[in-house]
Amino acid sequence: MHRIAILGRPNVGKSTLFNRLVGRKLAIVDDTPGVTRDRKEAEATLGGLSVLLADTAGLEEAAPDTIPGRMRASSEAALKAADLAIFVIDARAGITPADRAFANWLRRSGLPVILVANKAEGRLGTQMAMEAYELGLGDPLPVSAEHGDGIGGLHDEIRDRL
Ligand code: GDP
Ligand code: MG
Repeated sequence: MHRIAILGRPNVGKSTLFNRLVGRKLAIVDDTPGVTRDRKEAEATLGGLSVLLADTAGLEEAAPDTIPGRMRASSEAALKAADLAIFVIDARAGITPADRAFANWLRRSGLPVILVANKAEGRLGTQMAMEAYELGLGDPLPVSAEHGDGIGGLHDEIRDRL
């Protein structure tokens, strides 16, 4: 079975996307960074493929100045087991230093990465596309995990990249 890890800094909507892709509200969604303490896994059919999807705590416990070090500790296990990473950024917040650090780390991992710009209801996704492209992970895929926009396209991308 293919393994996919959802990664990214706190509060970008990883758990919301996890629930959307799994089709059930398994992960706790909260607007307070730090709510996802444990790693959640669930089986799902994505792009016609049977996958094991992992939601991660990501950087929740890390202080901003120690992000590169701490994110390895918290997310390395999920990434090591994964065949594909979904890297989530927040289309409303724009690219932050934590996003850049995370992107550098993901690029070095050599794993296939789908860059997802979440919270991109309406036109927000296209507005941040150029900025996100600078992360060196290709074109961002705008989605709204909360509203379901762009999720069909994400399924297609997953099928193409696995
Ligand atoms: P995580 O920390 O990355 O797991 O983020 P969560 O899934 O817990 O979501 C953090 C906050 O972002 C919550 O308040 C969610 O309701 C909100 N959120 C998640 N997805 C979307 C979205 O597509 N659009 C908007 N506007 N808000 C979202
Ligand atoms: Mg979470």
